Amino acid sequence: MVIDAQFTQEEIALQKLAHEFAVKEIHPIAMELDHQTDPARSAYMDSLLEKADAAGFRTMTIPEEYGGGGIESLFTHCVVGEELGWGDRGVVGMLLSCAKITHLLMADALATYEQREKWLRAYVDDPTFLISQAMTEDDTGSENLLPYDGVDGGFRTRAVREGDVYIVNGRKRFISNVGYAKLNFVYVRTDPSKNILEGSTLLMVPIDTPGVSFGRVHDKMGYRLNLNREMIFEDARVPVANRLGPENYGIVNINSHLRGGDSLINAAAMVGLARAAYEASVEYASNRRASGALLIHHQAIGLKLVKMYTQINAARAYVWQAARQIDNRARIPVDPKMAGSASYFAHEAACDVTRAAMEIHGGMGVMRELPVEMYLRNAYNMLHSDGGIIMKNLKVMCQMGMNVHSMNGVEKVSV
Ligand SMILES: Cc1cc2nc3c(=O)[nH]c(=O)nc-3n(C[C@H](O)[C@H](O)[C@H](O)COP(=O)(O)OP(=O)(O)OC[C@H]3O[C@@H](n4cnc5c(N)ncnc54)[C@H](O)[C@@H]3O)c2cc1C
Repeated sequence: MVIDAQFTQEEIALQKLAHEFAVKEIHPIAMELDHQTDPARSAYMDSLLEKADAAGFRTMTIPEEYGGGGIESLFTHCVVGEELGWGDRGVVGMLLSCAKITHLLMADALATYEQREKWLRAYVDDPTFLISQAMTEDDTGSENLLPYDGVDGGFRTRAVREGDVYIVNGRKRFISNVGYAKLNFVYVRTDPSKNILEGSTLLMVPIDTPGVSFGRVHDKMGYRLNLNREMIFEDARVPVANRLGPENYGIVNINSHLRGGDSLINAAAMVGLARAAYEASVEYASNRRASGALLIHHQAIGLKLVKMYTQINAARAYVWQAARQIDNRARIPVDPKMAGSASYFAHEAACDVTRAAMEIHGGMGVMRELPVEMYLRNAYNMLHSDGGIIMKNLKVMCQMGMNVHSMNGVEKVSV
C-alpha cells in the first residue's frame, strides 16, 4: 500500500480496512469463483456482499442522513478502489454501485426528495442491494458513450408514456450487475425523431417490474466476479414517478452528474490489479532459481520489475491527481481531459504489467493454479468496458479541440 503525504487519518484507516478486507475476504475466494465454468456462479456471493456491507464499502458514498458513510471525496473512493481491486477487479463493482446511485440520486436536476428517500433508504437497508446502469444494446455500444449525435444511432429501447406509466420495449446487453441488481438505471428513447442527446430519458426500473426479464449471462474472459447479463423489456410498465430528470433530458445531461467518477474508480481498481500482479512477480522471482541464480538477480527480470513498479506508481499518481482535481472543483479549474486520460493510462499500465508478470512466471504464468493468468484476463477484459479505451481517447481528442466525426457535447460528459 502507498500512503500519500496528504492522507487524512480517515483515509489511512479506510485504506488499511480495505486492504485487510481484500486479503481476508476477497483474495482467498477470487480464483475459485473465477474458475467456475458457469458464469452465473462466478459472481456475487451474498455472503461477500454482506461482509462488504458490514465493513461499510457498499454504502460509503451515501450521505449520512440516509444511513451511509457520507464520504464525498472521489480521491478517497479511489484509494479504497485500489485496495479492493488488488483483491479482485470484479468486486469493485460494489463500490461503483454505491457511487452511481449517490451521484444520480443526489443530483438536484435529476432526483426528487421522494425518490431519494425511497431508493437511498432501500439501498442502505438491504446489504445485498446493488444497482445497474443499462445503456448498451445488441446494435449499439460505443456510440452511446461518444455520444453519437445522429438520429440513426444510439440505444433503441423505447418508452412510450401512457398516463402514469411508461410502456418500455427493447433489449439491453452486457450490463454489469443486471439480474442481481435490485434497481436498474435504464436509458430509453422517448423521442425517436431526435438523437440520444435530445430524445433520451433515464428510468429507474426495479428488478421485479412486470414485463422485465433477464436473458443469458455473458461468459467473459475476465472480470468474472462481476456478472454481465441481458435485460429484456416486453411491454414493461415503469411508473412515471421512476423517471429521473425531465423527459428527453438527454444522455449528456444525465451522465454529466456522474462527474467522471466511475471512470476514475475503475482506473484505481486497475492500479490495484496491476499491483497484485507485480507483488506476485516479486515473490515468484525471489524464490525461483534459474541458471544458477534467483530470477530476481537476473537483470532482464529485474528491469521488467522496475518498469512494472514505475508504471504502477505513475498510473496511481495520475489517477489521484485527476480525482483530487474533481474533489476541489469549487476552487480550482478542472481539466476535462484528465479523468479520461488517467483512466486510459491506468488501463494500459495494467495490461503491460500483467503481461510482464506472466513472462516473469515462465510456464507457470499460464497455469491456472496461480492467479497470474487471471490477472491478465481481468486486465485485458477491462479494455472494453466503460466505453473502452478508444472511446476515452476520442473524448480526450475532442477536449483537445480535435475534430472527431459526429461527436457532440463531450465537454459535459467527463467532468
Ligand atoms: C466487462 C464489461 C462491462 C460492461 N458493463 C456495462 C454496463 O454496466 N452498462 C452498459 O450499458 N454497458 C456495459 N458494457 C458495454 C460496454 O460499454 C460496450 O461494450 C462498449 O461501449 C463498446 O460497445 P460495443 O461492444 O458495442 O462495441 P462497438 O461499439 O461495436 O465498437 C467496436 C470497436 O470499434 C471502436 N469504435 C466504435 N466507434 C468508433 C468510432 N466512432 N471511432 C473509432 N473507433 C470506434 C470501439 O472502440 C471498439 O473498439 C460492458 C462491457 C464489458 C465488456
